[in-house]
Amino acid sequence: MLTRPQGPVDECGRRIIAARKKPPRPSCAPKVPAHIVDECEKSYKAADEKKVKTTNVDTPGEQQKYAIALLEHLFTFLPPNATVAALYDIGCVVDRSLELYNILPVDIHQRLIFAISAMHTYGHQWACQIVYNPRLREGLGLTDGEGVERLWSRLRKLIPITRSSAVSTCMFPPHHASHDRSQ
Ligand SMILES: [Zn+2]
Repeated sequence: MLTRPQGPVDECGRRIIAARKKPPRPSCAPKVPAHIVDECEKSYKAADEKKVKTTNVDTPGEQQKYAIALLEHLFTFLPPNATVAALYDIGCVVDRSLELYNILPVDIHQRLIFAISAMHTYGHQWACQIVYNPRLREGLGLTDGEGVERLWSRLRKLIPITRSSAVSTCMFPPHHASHDRSQ
């Protein structure tokens, strides 16, 4: 799994904001009508804002920087002719941003396609599902983008075990043990 330090992510966020201040590409032909993607984005925000209250992450609109920074990082490891299919919960929204604005270098953008992970497509508008459902997206075969979810589901049995390895429980027993030894 790839992760990015916060610095490059914030830098990517600043580039996105700067690109959005410029006029959109005149040649952009939307895959899905703009009002449909707006509806997808609205329903995602409504679901995600509940999480924002509890996890204190950035606002949903700013979250594109995480996906885009990660994709940029991924491309640094790939040969120059490699193509990438990104399956993302809000693939339609990010794809629209990248189509409209000059956010990614052209050589990366041309080698990147977006789809929405199979189970998440059902939360999207019907017109969006037709374009972004991985089963209907050319080149994806039987990929459904749910591999990580499947892994988490299988690892679910470990939750009770890992609870006992939380920082507090890891730190205090050794502390008490050393304290007891000194007496
Ligand atoms: Zn959508």
